[in-house]
Amino acid sequence: MPKTDNLNSLSQIIKEEISHYDHKVNSSSVGQVVSVGDCIATIFGIDNAMYGELIEFPNNAYGMVMNIEENDIGVALFGENVTIKEGDTCTRTGKLVSVPVGDGMLGRVVNSLGEPIDGFGPIKATTYRPVESVAPEIMDRQSVNEPLETGIKAIDSMIPIGKGQRELIIGDRQTGKTAIAIDTIINQKDKDVYCVYCSIGQKNSSLAQIVARLKRYDALKYTTIVGSSAAEPAPMQYLAPYAATSIAEHWMHQGKNVLIIYDDLSKHAVAYRTLLLLLRRSPGREAYPGDIFYLHSRLLERSCRLSDELGGGSLTALPIIETQAGDISAYIPTNVISITDGQLFLNTDMFNSGQRPAIDSGLSVSRVGSSAQTKVMKSVSKDLRMALANYHEMLDFSRFGSDLDKSTKKILSHGAILTEVLKQKQYMPLSAGKEIVDIFVAQSGLLDDIDPSHVHYILKFLSNSISAQNPHIYEEINKEKKFSDESKEWIKEHLNTIIASVNDNLIQEDNY
Ligand code: ATP
Ligand code: MG
Repeated sequence: MPKTDNLNSLSQIIKEEISHYDHKVNSSSVGQVVSVGDCIATIFGIDNAMYGELIEFPNNAYGMVMNIEENDIGVALFGENVTIKEGDTCTRTGKLVSVPVGDGMLGRVVNSLGEPIDGFGPIKATTYRPVESVAPEIMDRQSVNEPLETGIKAIDSMIPIGKGQRELIIGDRQTGKTAIAIDTIINQKDKDVYCVYCSIGQKNSSLAQIVARLKRYDALKYTTIVGSSAAEPAPMQYLAPYAATSIAEHWMHQGKNVLIIYDDLSKHAVAYRTLLLLLRRSPGREAYPGDIFYLHSRLLERSCRLSDELGGGSLTALPIIETQAGDISAYIPTNVISITDGQLFLNTDMFNSGQRPAIDSGLSVSRVGSSAQTKVMKSVSKDLRMALANYHEMLDFSRFGSDLDKSTKKILSHGAILTEVLKQKQYMPLSAGKEIVDIFVAQSGLLDDIDPSHVHYILKFLSNSISAQNPHIYEEINKEKKFSDESKEWIKEHLNTIIASVNDNLIQEDNY
């Protein structure tokens, strides 16, 4: 046969083959477990598996595709893997890992797969949502300009958080990070904000305490808790924040305002590192895998405020990061700082000296700024950061012990009152009205000559008098977002009487 004929027939054969090609015929959706251990299974024989796809094993065991190699796939197994052994067959499900979403999740405690772990029976859910989904595009979003009130004076006045913002809570261990998150959830009562609290790598007992607290403050009814304890395998801990975000996202797309807490993402990064080292991915800096930034950026990008055409819902994220000896320039902290729209830095020394919540106003910032504040809050708190910065500067200076001039003394006494007013007990978030009155009083200078140890007594007295004699002041601020001159005058007048009576009592005590 001539050479050209030969080529023509060959190309004919190839073309024919291509036209009959059906990838489903060639691809197999059944595979075999080659090796299994440490919650990782290596599967041979499955083609075209998707990243994140659910793989079904015998005895109702499941896993998620995490690694796609040329000849095999790596699957992270959920739950106990004792039942899976080498040689077992497994099948593709064609589905991504999904969790139940919707109002049936409210008041429930679930694991990373959305299965209830609170003992209150099955969850009534008709809708499922994949744990990973693409973040809304820029055009689908609108700017953040509505405050999400935490009820914590130091935050709402100086580092305001807006609905749809991502604000990092960062600090050493035992500095009140979780306390801020829980107080913020408690403060959302009757504010039409749904909350999701995602606990990663904590002890089960800590989670049980948090659930009990939320129940006691009647906050569980608008909250879902996603828990993956330190005892659970790395794949479950890795999945928890994505599952929690899907639960929250569902409400956001329905036009609701949602708050999500990730407690904490340092432990999440460690779980991911464990998982990928087991999958034999090459370690990078601090042994974290190369895509550790993407791990948290794709999670936090999902928080936003949607445009009005898409319902105007919002997802506000408060991720938590634990630092070692206040080192905010370590790898994971700097990653998450650069992803979020600001951070609340908790200072260990302040916490230990009793300045709680220990928010360091110098290192904390909210990039959304005062556009996430009401006009009233803006007007009473605008000079607060400056006054505190002056105070701290002068405080260092005054330690040299020289004679202080009058203006320095004034800065010091005013600063001492401000720091005292910003102290707040745990589980006592305040309404906007109470916060604004307290800050107004502190900034007015009327308390500057008072012994700081009497400040909280005076504030409590004032708050009781307002509630009893002129509750209109609080209502006006809370509902109409107004703080009239008459209200201010009334407060000043009453404050002077209270201060006089406190001073009188002290003089009487001194006489004894
Ligand atoms: P961990 O690093 O262990 O997660 P954390 O930073 O989350 O700790 P918390 O558990 O919130 O810190 O708080 C540590 C302790 O400080 C708790 O006992 C808590 O009750 C107490 N605490 C937190 N905030 C305040 C506050 N504003 N007033 C008084 N006590 C507080
Ligand atoms: Mg904590």
